[in-house]
Amino acid sequence: MTTLTDLHQSTRRRFAAANLETPDLDARLLLEHCTGTTRLDLIREPGRIATPAQAAELEKAVARRLAGEPVHRILGWREFYGLRLALSPDTLEPRPDTEALVDLVLPHARATAARKGTCSILDLGTGTGAIALAMLSALPQARALGVDISEGALATARVNAAANRLADRFETVLSDWFERISGRFDVILSNPPYITDGELAGLARDVTRFDPPRALSGGADGLDAYRTIASGAAPHLDPDGLIGVEIGSRQKEDVAAIFREAGFRPAGEAKDLGGRDRALLFTL
Ligand code: GLN
Repeated sequence: MTTLTDLHQSTRRRFAAANLETPDLDARLLLEHCTGTTRLDLIREPGRIATPAQAAELEKAVARRLAGEPVHRILGWREFYGLRLALSPDTLEPRPDTEALVDLVLPHARATAARKGTCSILDLGTGTGAIALAMLSALPQARALGVDISEGALATARVNAAANRLADRFETVLSDWFERISGRFDVILSNPPYITDGELAGLARDVTRFDPPRALSGGADGLDAYRTIASGAAPHLDPDGLIGVEIGSRQKEDVAAIFREAGFRPAGEAKDLGGRDRALLFTL
């Protein structure tokens, strides 16, 4: 008889032997996913017997993980800013690093909401909706428009808005950056694609292999999207508004220059959990 604990331990050992970064966490997440049990079940009932169907299900997931698929792609969801977000092949997997952008802009957005009683947010390249939905969850007075060039991504973002009870304050528009956007916003945010063509060609990292290339590729120097955003933002930003972008860790000076040349002033910056430059904020 195989218990859930046996499965957890054997999976953990296989992941550790394959040098996965977080063997214990991956093993637990996949076990929970494939057996329909929770962490608490494992603690309360470590001796619970696994059915052959559960063991087979786990074996399939383990094979995918050992073949390099990120654990959250297998689960089909990832947590971001305390929200559980569904992933799809059309969406970038939200990274914890992006929470730095949300944390950076929140105090300003909160002040706007306090002053105006509302705060309008535009999220360019919304993907799973991560940034917009995190903002909405933290700011009950805010409304957000999620923009993406992928209809599939927008469908996933809408599912995530509904699942997190934020759908009444979240709308989506299919648009190539600002192309089909009208009106002004208090806050414009984006985690645009910023990987250079060279980096993308050399990337064998497991996560990016499963992300849509469109969500990663920032052109020859990785800065294409920033040029498009900076040159199109002014007519869509409230005069007292803020624009915040995630950046690659070595892009701070270049992105700051692009926004400066487009008439913006620096208004803040943040580092990610690893201490690397990760987010910049500008005003008009
Ligand atoms: N942070 C992601 C990575 O390093 C890139 C996300 C992006 O291009 N916006 O893979």
